[in-house]
Amino acid sequence: MRKGVPISPGVVVARAYCVDEALARREPLRLEEAALSAEVSRFDTALSAAGKELDGLANQVRRQLGDDEAAIFRGQRLLLRDPSLITKVKTAILEKRIDASSALHEALEEYAALFAQIHDPYLKERMADVRDVISRLVAKLAANPSHGECLTCDEPVVLVATEVLPSQAMAFRRLKIAGIVTETGGPTGHAAILARSLGIPSIAGLAGVCREVATGDLLAVDGRQGHVHIRPDPETEAAYRKLQREYFDLRDRLVIENRAHQAVTRDGAQVELLANVNGPADAEMAVRTGATGVGLYRTEYLFLTHATVPSEEEQLAEYKAVIEAAPCKRVTIRTLDLGGDKVVPYMGERREANPFMGWRSIRLTTAYPEFFQTQLRAILRAGLYGEIRILFPMVTTLEEVHNLKELLEGTKAKLRRDGIPFADKMPVGIMLEVPAAALCVGALLPEVDFVSIGSNDLTQYLMAADRDNPKVAHLCEPFSPPVLRLLRHVLKVCGRHGKPVTLCGEMAGRPRCFLPLFGMGLRQLSMSPAFVPTIKELVRNSTVDIARKVARRALRLTTFHDVRNFLTRATRRVCPNVSLLDTRN
Ligand code: PEP
Ligand code: MG
Repeated sequence: MRKGVPISPGVVVARAYCVDEALARREPLRLEEAALSAEVSRFDTALSAAGKELDGLANQVRRQLGDDEAAIFRGQRLLLRDPSLITKVKTAILEKRIDASSALHEALEEYAALFAQIHDPYLKERMADVRDVISRLVAKLAANPSHGECLTCDEPVVLVATEVLPSQAMAFRRLKIAGIVTETGGPTGHAAILARSLGIPSIAGLAGVCREVATGDLLAVDGRQGHVHIRPDPETEAAYRKLQREYFDLRDRLVIENRAHQAVTRDGAQVELLANVNGPADAEMAVRTGATGVGLYRTEYLFLTHATVPSEEEQLAEYKAVIEAAPCKRVTIRTLDLGGDKVVPYMGERREANPFMGWRSIRLTTAYPEFFQTQLRAILRAGLYGEIRILFPMVTTLEEVHNLKELLEGTKAKLRRDGIPFADKMPVGIMLEVPAAALCVGALLPEVDFVSIGSNDLTQYLMAADRDNPKVAHLCEPFSPPVLRLLRHVLKVCGRHGKPVTLCGEMAGRPRCFLPLFGMGLRQLSMSPAFVPTIKELVRNSTVDIARKVARRALRLTTFHDVRNFLTRATRRVCPNVSLLDTRN
């Protein structure tokens, strides 16, 4: 049995699907003489499709970001026309009778060997462009597969990978994923958030698992404990299948039983349970699980899954689709939060030593005001279709709040001049996820209508522990006494100012975090839709008095272990069955 970091609860027994194996170079397909010319034209089609895509990217990036940023795509476009690359691939297809993807992989290996001998760091970096261009071509070929090349999977599988990038996670949606097991990643990384929002049991931090498992191996996965059995014996398999049934029965029962109930405590206190969504499908799920609105719409997924910058109209259509699907058409739309582990190609290649603390999120706003104005216009216009609030992420200083509001007012003025209708009175909020902003929240509150606590980033910055790194996952924990103290400070100050406050980090959906948060005065939580029924069950079994006592006691404890153990016991006492639905870390 292997033990990793529990990421998303649930138990599953299914066969493995090794992503790296599938994406890695497979044996070349040997082609018949008659198929060769068709394969060459398939390569030509991929060349022209990739060329068009790069032209579009270069134009759009130039318009929205500037000439320097577009240069990278113009350079890649030139590489696509490189006669030596084209000849190399076509010769391999015709002479070695192999498929175009394999020919491209061979070419990539040759280039890699060549670049390895170069010492100039600038030229060495150009290898990244070659790799990028070749993967674009391979992707185009995969989109138009030749016979025998299609990688599909009909039965539910456990995805096994080194890491799952947010953009890949979206692409994996076409597989029937029953579980996810990765070598890297932490509990609040964005791949983890996606796994949770899809209700998929998931474990990270299993170093070497990709070498130990092959596609088709049976795996028994417990996402609550972080346990994986590779090729389990029949007794273990049977025990896990039973756990799987019990887990999903309980979860489904809570969904059905709690959907129609209000989230009200035994003594009548109302709690608002909202959903975090990435797009219309999640918003539909929020309705099914009984959320009363969307508390966090992460708009960056639209950008991550688009080959080019989405236009104002494309954004408006997507925001409208989310609003139409959301419970009561209530949606808090967060402006773009790119950077950290969420990168898009059209922002240019920006390697930074500390991307989470670097040039990201609203810090990009001042550099690209036009780019952000497009999003603000789309959000303001979408405001006509529901009860919409706008939320700015990663705010650190009061000056930033002033700048953002100025940008918003400027955008409104422009819409007015253009005669385009929009929601003029849209409430404006900021995320509290940088400790500096959380500490000085009193100075920021008069400027905004509401705040939303981003406990994922707040924890990683406060504890100086990367949310994506399994080696420091024990530090990046909401049960840590400093995190609870900072949250108490924020909730107290917001209460004094009478400003609405939501918590939308992953701790909102963790059963053992509910009592201390509620006891400290929090009344609005936003979480992955899958967790709404569980947290509602807890709300309906709690009282204000119990929660206050739990919060007071938890705040007096001084170690992470003491807090966690105390909250495990306290939660079990209030509601014994929900602890079965939680991760054990
Ligand atoms: C957070 O940081 O808690 C948050 C909700 O934002 P994200 O997870 O998208 O960074
Ligand atoms: Mg955040």
